[in-house]
Amino acid sequence: MLNPARGTDVQGDVLLRGGRVEWPVRGALPEDCRRLDCRGFWVLPGLVDMHVHLRTPGMPEAETLETGLRAALAGGVVVVGMMPNTNPPLDDPALVESVLRRADDLGLAEVVPIPCVTRGGRGGRLTDLEAFHSMGIRAFSDDGRPVLPDEAFREACRRVSRFDGVIVEHPENPDLSGGGVVNSGPVADLLGLPGIPEESEWRDVARCVSLLEGTGGRLHLTHLSCPESVRIAASAAARGLPVTCDVTPHHLALNHDAAAVMGTRAKMNPPLRSEESRRELARLCSAGMVQAVASDHAPHTREAKELGMAEAPFGVIGLETLLPVTADVLWRRSGMPPLEVAAMLTTAPASVLGLPAPDLSREDPGSLVLFDPAGEWEYRGGFSRSVNSPFLGTRLTGRVVMTVFRGRVFR
Ligand SMILES: [Zn+2]
Repeated sequence: MLNPARGTDVQGDVLLRGGRVEWPVRGALPEDCRRLDCRGFWVLPGLVDMHVHLRTPGMPEAETLETGLRAALAGGVVVVGMMPNTNPPLDDPALVESVLRRADDLGLAEVVPIPCVTRGGRGGRLTDLEAFHSMGIRAFSDDGRPVLPDEAFREACRRVSRFDGVIVEHPENPDLSGGGVVNSGPVADLLGLPGIPEESEWRDVARCVSLLEGTGGRLHLTHLSCPESVRIAASAAARGLPVTCDVTPHHLALNHDAAAVMGTRAKMNPPLRSEESRRELARLCSAGMVQAVASDHAPHTREAKELGMAEAPFGVIGLETLLPVTADVLWRRSGMPPLEVAAMLTTAPASVLGLPAPDLSREDPGSLVLFDPAGEWEYRGGFSRSVNSPFLGTRLTGRVVMTVFRGRVFR
């Protein structure tokens, strides 16, 4: 049992009774309960994925709330941080309210909207951050784009500082990445495609860190793909600035060769980087310099992904492979303790989003994941309406056996 909120990694029984999760179990297990032998399995709190594109409203052919949230539960995710670059974008409190109501009615995983920082997410005038805060929302992002211009970024940091909010930055310098398709270097040259340099990312990380200073705001840098970005974030944090970051499973597991082999199933922004950068990114995670892992689940239809490397949209799905791929790279291959891997998928992202820490030992926690870290399976797509994953058809080690969300079992 891995319970990062209390720093505990112990063996023992979990009892599901009448829609409640009991752990630790007081006294002996009831005689009449059904037993599941879970030796060697991990039991951890339901995962928090702070970077998900649910494509609602506006893109039901790629994903709906229902298919997206079922994919989340299949992957052990019970809290979904919903990115705002929908159609229309989540920049209006009434729209966010209506999406939340629909998600509530489904009764599947919990949705935590991350509305736009600027109107339409296109830079410039800010959204009504205070109105969102009064709905209980603390995190904002223009994901898909960086928050521009500089003055809007600073103003947003100042305003969210009044309620301990956070700006979730998609770090990219459009002047350096504009028109790019894959990582700059040999793969871009081989494919004859324009490249996106690592500098495009870390320049924007450096910009945000320097703009943050003196505003009182909090900054979270999402889907960092290169070691230099992590180093800049970590050195800002070491100077006392409230800066955190996350990485994705695909940037930890794959390098830019995948773009040459798999085509658009490995096209995402930021792109997969060199093997050297990939290995260093995983090492920085083990060194504690990255707080969270998030899927950046970004569904697209087959038709859109069949447009070819230059035209197809960026993005890959990842909810259903989040835990297996993360555990494989960080625990199995890099030797990170399971408790630390669990923290990157539960307590750390919850803290960034301003949510209470997921804690198995609370009186009635209600949500957990049962994970077999040695279980082998072939990923053939699942509940998501889309299949644009670089892991499609791959044998994975590590399998989500069961997810319990508010006392209901999904398996
Ligand atoms: Zn992004």
